Amino acid sequence: MIGAAQTSTFPRFLDLEYPSIERGDGVWLHTTDGQKVLDASSGGAMTSNLGHGRHDIVDAATRQAEKIAYFYMDHFTNEPMEALADRLISVAAPEMARVRFASSGSEANETALRLARAYHVDRGEPDRWRVISFAQSYHGATMATLALTGRRRTLQEPFTPYLSPHLHIDRGAEALAELDARLEEAGPASVAAFFCEPVSGAALPGYSPPDDFWRGLDERRKRHGFLVCFDEVVTGMGRTGSWFAYQDLPIEPDIVTAGKGLGAGYAPISAVLCKQHVYDAIDRGSRFFDLGHTWDGAPISCATAVAVVDALVSERVIERVRSRGPALLEQLRAALGGNRLVSDVRGRGFLCGVSLIDLPDADRYDERVEAAALAHDLLVTTTHSNADGFTGDEIVFAPPLTSTDDELAMMVSRLASALGDLE
Ligand code: PMP
Repeated sequence: MIGAAQTSTFPRFLDLEYPSIERGDGVWLHTTDGQKVLDASSGGAMTSNLGHGRHDIVDAATRQAEKIAYFYMDHFTNEPMEALADRLISVAAPEMARVRFASSGSEANETALRLARAYHVDRGEPDRWRVISFAQSYHGATMATLALTGRRRTLQEPFTPYLSPHLHIDRGAEALAELDARLEEAGPASVAAFFCEPVSGAALPGYSPPDDFWRGLDERRKRHGFLVCFDEVVTGMGRTGSWFAYQDLPIEPDIVTAGKGLGAGYAPISAVLCKQHVYDAIDRGSRFFDLGHTWDGAPISCATAVAVVDALVSERVIERVRSRGPALLEQLRAALGGNRLVSDVRGRGFLCGVSLIDLPDADRYDERVEAAALAHDLLVTTTHSNADGFTGDEIVFAPPLTSTDDELAMMVSRLASALGDLE
């Protein structure tokens, strides 16, 4: 265990002690202390979708690095970047027309924001800049993306002086009425985009608004001319049982981002995809979509992601998540339903969420759940958002998409035991 006094790093929580991870193998994590932990969170951040220690993916990265690992996309394009963009458009998101790569989810979402703004400016509507998003959300750690959540106390403070004054709505039955109110408040001609996750990842795991909301959003997009941007940093690349979660909804976004599952933990890579009409606006306008990051489209990252996409296809991973997801949800419901701490269990594919009942803020049940799970050699991720008044603590249950039936059953039973201890 390493605490703040024993490290030269700047730890996230200065009063916590961290075990050290040594290696991973499928759904298993091995610490330097010899603990063997079952990973029900895909690397802690819904990222390691193919599990740990995949030699085929590492080999693809090595082969590319031996040719050329890095070059900046300003000067040359490269084969892996072209191949990855082609695969994403032809296999994963045929509804989309163009792809721009970045390294993290935050960068991809920030690029999506810039693209939405550039679209309106290039079409001669420079007054459109405001974004409307769900208050109970998370879209990244950069200042532009942090402004897209309404979780002021737990996420934004003390950085609020740096954040743009965007508008937020609550989830739930009143969401459409709230959207209308915000549009009215801002003046619809000042709104550039509605930004949200189609199925929520960490903020409210596994939740998606009802179809009426999506149809209403679509209708307002047509009426008022803003763009719909979907953050699929968590859900993109198969987590909910389709390549992108929007493919199961009655709405398509104008712009969509992918992240975590694209590199599956083997490379830091993310992507922004847009529809043809978004590209056309830039094509007919400034013909310029500038500002990137040093690692955008780097050969080693793209070659790794090509290998990830190929594995998803050849192993029929997404088909299995789609067919197995409902039974996983039933298993979780059956195992946790009787626990008095649990208020809701929901999920899509291999993205499940367990809401805990409202408990005193100071009790920090999120941390207690993680500790109780680790005592049962299980890793789950939790979020603590009730201080904002949106919801209680949430457990994210997001196993690698390649987990076997036995491994899933073991994860469910260990989580039930951990929550049983807390109850
Ligand atoms: N969007 C969502 C929905 C996320 O869950 C995250 C990361 N947890 C991000 C964006 C930000 O991605 P990154 O941490 O790679 O910048």
